[in-house]
Amino acid sequence: GQRVPWVLGTQLHPEVGPLGRAPAGSRVLMIEAREFARRRPYHHDKLTLVFSAMRQFRDELRERGYDVEYITAETFREGLSRYFERHPGDTPVAMRSPSYRSGSRMAELVGEIGGDLDVVDNELFVSTRRAFDEWANGDTDSFRHESFYRWMRRRSGVLLTDDGNPVGGEWNLDDENQEFPPPEWSPPERYEPDHGEAVRETSEWVREEFETWGADEGFRWPTTREQARNVLEQFCERRLPEFGPYQDAMRSRDWAMAHALLSPALNLGLLHPWEAITAIEEAYESREDIPLNSAEGVLRQLLGWREFMRHVYRHAMPELATANQLGAERPLPEFYWSGETEMNCLAETVEDVHERGYAHHIQRLMVLANFATLWGVEPRELNEWFHATYVDAYHWVTTPNVVEMGQYGHGVFATKPYVSSASYVDRMSDYCGDCHYYKTKDTGDRACPFNSLYWDFLARNEEQLRGNHRMGLMYSHVDDKRESGDLAAIRERVDDLREMADAGEL
Ligand code: FAD
Repeated sequence: GQRVPWVLGTQLHPEVGPLGRAPAGSRVLMIEAREFARRRPYHHDKLTLVFSAMRQFRDELRERGYDVEYITAETFREGLSRYFERHPGDTPVAMRSPSYRSGSRMAELVGEIGGDLDVVDNELFVSTRRAFDEWANGDTDSFRHESFYRWMRRRSGVLLTDDGNPVGGEWNLDDENQEFPPPEWSPPERYEPDHGEAVRETSEWVREEFETWGADEGFRWPTTREQARNVLEQFCERRLPEFGPYQDAMRSRDWAMAHALLSPALNLGLLHPWEAITAIEEAYESREDIPLNSAEGVLRQLLGWREFMRHVYRHAMPELATANQLGAERPLPEFYWSGETEMNCLAETVEDVHERGYAHHIQRLMVLANFATLWGVEPRELNEWFHATYVDAYHWVTTPNVVEMGQYGHGVFATKPYVSSASYVDRMSDYCGDCHYYKTKDTGDRACPFNSLYWDFLARNEEQLRGNHRMGLMYSHVDDKRESGDLAAIRERVDDLREMADAGEL
């Protein structure tokens, strides 16, 4: 028997890990399991992306001379059994998936079939498990991103001066990422791959084979390494200069703005995050037109947040998946699926997700998760929704972002809930102008639901949140509203909103 790289569908990089060290001619295992895709109404584009990327990766490896055993099966168990029948005595070597317990589950499965499996470190991240744990230094109950991020900058040397200080003097330019573009601004050019027959066939097959959600025409995501590199190149070349100032802004009918659009490719392994980080840093160093708030703004996400989420997930599972410290138990409103709501910010954002399986970070955080948190949606259900509907969603990255950052479910790294009334959405977007609801009203006919829900949320969760010193100012407003009697009117408005939602009229 031989040791055979087993390439999982989210590890499609030819130069990394066991595959990267196996010479052409080696046997390689890939299993295309379908059962997972039947568990939820996944976005058509997400399934098309995963399956077409795997199939094209197989073809590329074969062209390079690898002997690829590509097994299509309903489950991994079935796929592995077939593999061991054909090659008894082989030991597949897989990089550990970041999903909870996937390494030990795979090993159990292979053990039951009577084979051997070797699970090795996942080299598709920037930091190792050991490095993060060294940074955490035994304290695994709560984590602070800012501290991890600075540590990563120091350790990697990214945007660091020769004497070890942050380039420009500050570590984090977040407050320079919050401008709204002028009306004449148009988003920088975007690279869109020209998909051939292989992708069209897979898209068609997905349409027939699975019960999907979302638009099933116009698939636009990169499915090969070459296309992923083009997205990165175009981002550095054209889009990066404007990324920084407008990172947190939201515009109607402008789904991409100046965002990197790299997460679908990164999360499938088509690009290694180092490749993105070094390309961005090189562009910043060699050109005059890239401001520091752009370079730092995106590197903070790639070197900081993305790595941080993976490790926090690892430490906080399995509790994180069902964490619900605010005891939120309402079901997700139907309009997350249908898009049918008079709230313009939500209608526009759901439409973006329906169309492409993507919305950018502030839409996810301050529209979709914010509303769900204010409404009192059970975090687990919102997590399921994100997992199904986004092209870049995998349990390890969706769960900490939705349950913790979005809904303050656990308190493992968030220090307060990210919630806001209409004023934030209005400041950072152009959604409110065209809306049926009035952004400045709390109560009465056509008052924006975000307002009454915001005050009701604070009042409802007072016991848990009042003691949080970061919320002190907000609770002094709650006190004022309670004294003036406004809070009673706000609660009535919320009751009305709940009835409207039940009738599909929100
Ligand atoms: P840019 O804004 O241009 O950022 C560049 C890169 O940084 C991204 O490609 C991504 O790889 C990384 N990044 C940025 N923020 C985060 C973050 N918070 N966590 C992890 N990586 C980050 N990201 C996912 O990859 N998959 C998800 O399922 C996902 N679900 C989210 C759900 C919610 C409620 C929130 C608030 C955020 C979620 N994110 C998720 C994080 C972030 O919104 C996306 O990574 C980002 O919008 C992807 O678009 P982009 O490539 O254009 O990103």
